[in-house]
Amino acid sequence: MTDRLTYRARMAPVTYAGTRSALTRGETTCREVVSSFLDVVTERNSHLNAFTHVDAAGALRRAEELDRRRAAGEVLPPLAGLVLAVKDVICVRGRKVTCASRMLSNFTSVIDATAVRRLVEAGAIILGKTNCDEFAMGSSSESSYFGPVRHPRCDGYVPGGSSGGSAVAVAAGMCHAALGTDTGGSIRQPAAFCGVVGLKPTYGRVSRFGLVAHASSLDCIGPMAHTVEDARAVLAAMAGTDPRDATSADVPVRAQRSSPVKDLTIGLPAQYFGKGLDSAVRSRIEEVTEQLRTQGASMRAVDLPHTGYGVATYYILATAEASSNLGRYDGVRYGYRPDRRGSTGLEAMYVAARSQGFGEEVRRRIMLGTFVLSSGYYDAYYGKAQRVRSLIRRDFDRAFLDVDVLVTPAAPVAGFRMGSLVRDPLQMYLADLYTVTANLAGIPGLVVPIGTHPDGLPIGMQLLGRPFEEMRLLDVGKVAMEAARR
Ligand code: GLN
Repeated sequence: MTDRLTYRARMAPVTYAGTRSALTRGETTCREVVSSFLDVVTERNSHLNAFTHVDAAGALRRAEELDRRRAAGEVLPPLAGLVLAVKDVICVRGRKVTCASRMLSNFTSVIDATAVRRLVEAGAIILGKTNCDEFAMGSSSESSYFGPVRHPRCDGYVPGGSSGGSAVAVAAGMCHAALGTDTGGSIRQPAAFCGVVGLKPTYGRVSRFGLVAHASSLDCIGPMAHTVEDARAVLAAMAGTDPRDATSADVPVRAQRSSPVKDLTIGLPAQYFGKGLDSAVRSRIEEVTEQLRTQGASMRAVDLPHTGYGVATYYILATAEASSNLGRYDGVRYGYRPDRRGSTGLEAMYVAARSQGFGEEVRRRIMLGTFVLSSGYYDAYYGKAQRVRSLIRRDFDRAFLDVDVLVTPAAPVAGFRMGSLVRDPLQMYLADLYTVTANLAGIPGLVVPIGTHPDGLPIGMQLLGRPFEEMRLLDVGKVAMEAARR
């Protein structure tokens, strides 16, 4: 038995779909909805540390504005009254965007990210910014300058990362939905650890404008929520091409299917069910997959032969891109300006800004990335990793000729204890093996909660799909969640 203990089960989770019908029936107001979430924040956030910043006054003001417009008979936009938390690597105009780093701890954004702007235009109310691993580098949400995020149910365990604050804000009932970012699993793995729905969209589905870059060829913004329907609504509102992001794609978001599982072919990749996978996680996924089979899906074994190279390839490419993206934080144009009394010179100032402004993991990645890009090593590491990335993508292309979706675990374990892996970065990296491949291939991945581990931690299941088939993933994910409840 674990020490899971501080958790008081809330009643049914507050979904946006539920709030929306209550709002249209006039049974509640946006102000009431925001206040009740703020009550939960007051009660739980000082322990959970899910937020870096809560904008109570701004959220209440916005709620009152929406209430006034409704009272005046205006037809409100589709997400009016959706209370949203935003990971603190995504820009909200006039609010700090700290990236959970000392480097940006005092930096206020002058822009709205496109995803944020679209959601606000659709009626969302932004409650605050969520805590995460520094610059979204990590899998446990322990590397924040503002202290670690705690698991909402099992005290002493990590909530996963890097979007741990977003996962906890949803799981603990502090908002309807949250935005996370996923460069190598940072939406899906904390969703699995905290028992919520998390979607990493296809690369390019959601504009990255206003997202502080970690690894630009891998970064995706996506929704986290209690239900597939709420995640779908958030995705639909923020998706679409954007002149400010040349990699954003102009592909319409299709409607849902009436019978998503009938005639569906599900692939089970052998490489995702191998040694090291927790046996309770494995058997829960098998049970739920079996239920999908009885509802008409067919199963097929799938071979993704280059999966084993995923973690090495990811950590070469992600650190290379990060070392380049983080070059801008030099203490001159942006960010932390060190106190240099006693030392003089430009170089001393750079060194002081970067060694004091960045935490240990960020510094490690800048060094790794600089190394793999340096002349003499470039071909051996970066060049080779790019070639392996193509092979991993090709594995998926081939698999999706025969199957519609792949079912896999999101992580080899249902969770791990705080402090157990931070001192062992390699072990932490290795635990990302089931999520990084989707980013390397650019395909969408959804995690849905499907049960509870004997030790009390939630268990998640990952569904991977063809590019731009998020809606199919959400349809199948919904059936899987329902099957898991039976
Ligand atoms: N855990 C992975 C990393 O540390 C993924 C991070 C992410 O998706 N932002 O890089």
